[in-house]
Amino acid sequence: MVSGIYTTMHPKSESPTDVQRWFQSHSATLWPAALGSLSLRRTRCIRKNCSACQSGKKHPSWVLSGHLQGKRFSLYVPESLVPEVQRCLKNGRALQELLYASAWRYVQALKQSHTPHSS
Ligand SMILES: [Zn+2]
Repeated sequence: MVSGIYTTMHPKSESPTDVQRWFQSHSATLWPAALGSLSLRRTRCIRKNCSACQSGKKHPSWVLSGHLQGKRFSLYVPESLVPEVQRCLKNGRALQELLYASAWRYVQALKQSHTPHSS
């Protein structure tokens, strides 16, 4: 469960270790996780007089695409795996949200655990 990360009131005295525990307990439930976009593509085949192509329906196939080290990739996904991939992507987005929340909470905790310098 990731809902309520932003709305949950947490004590101002949260330590970096508290944030670590919070992150680990939440992220543990978010596997399998993946980032990317899943889309349905309709392509033509090479067969002549193909009824699917002639009718305009063509051949639907699921493709997962994303970026890896600056390069775009696309990966064919069999229909039977689509629900699982969708679950991964949902977890991936939740994990991304969790990381943003972590940025906020962890930096707050670090700042509070730091003895302020007199300047
Ligand atoms: Zn065809």
